[in-house]
Amino acid sequence: MKIAIMGAMVEEIEPLLEYFKEYEIVDYADNRYYFAKYKDLELIIAYSKIGKVFAALTAATMIERFKATKLLFSGVAGAISSDLKIGDLIVATKLAQHDLDITAFGHPFGYVPEGKVFIESDKELLDISKKVANSKGIYLKEGVIATGDQFVNSSEKKEWIQKTFHADALEMEGASVAVVCDALDIPFFILRSISDSADMDAGFDFEEFLKSSSKKSASFLISMLDEIATA
Ligand code: SAH
Repeated sequence: MKIAIMGAMVEEIEPLLEYFKEYEIVDYADNRYYFAKYKDLELIIAYSKIGKVFAALTAATMIERFKATKLLFSGVAGAISSDLKIGDLIVATKLAQHDLDITAFGHPFGYVPEGKVFIESDKELLDISKKVANSKGIYLKEGVIATGDQFVNSSEKKEWIQKTFHADALEMEGASVAVVCDALDIPFFILRSISDSADMDAGFDFEEFLKSSSKKSASFLISMLDEIATA
């Protein structure tokens, strides 16, 4: 099985690269792809760079050019839900683009004709994540993730996103990856560990917790790979 694993920033995939150790490297379309073998799995690992466009390009490349059959995302996010503290893990049940706005034509936020406001994650991968969380006694929140090309560091904006999309966390890539995987019929899974609370302290918290939260997300993802490999 060929599994794509992506992050947005180098810090998000570094713990994975350290864990799997040996790679073949392919440079393509202004990005670097790391190929590794783990148990009976073939892995393709890359970070996309920040934001929806880069994330969509990397996801599509991993699927179309490198033939990944599942895609797992590991990274950090800003918390919206008060259930989520820095370092906690959230997996997206569904994702929306909070900055997609043609409401001038009477459409809801996050919607364009022939698109969907919410894209749902793969049920099997969600089940695997629950199994891993239960067996390891790890708190894993399931919830809605909202994505936009903006670092949110304002309580007002965060509340608007909460009200409009009932989102529990926000970040800058997940929903674009979801759109690509949904269109290409590839099961996907978006995992994030909280780095900040998307409020006025977000910039500071993000810098402080990027590495530790990235590690938590990556280490959970590795446990999921163990589960996928033995299934
Ligand atoms: N400090 C970085 C920029 C980080 S942007 C630099 O200067 O290069 C934030 C990244 O973490 C994005 O990839 C996004 O997906 C995630 N993220 C974490 N907290 C976020 C928040 N409050 N708002 C938006 N994205 C957030």
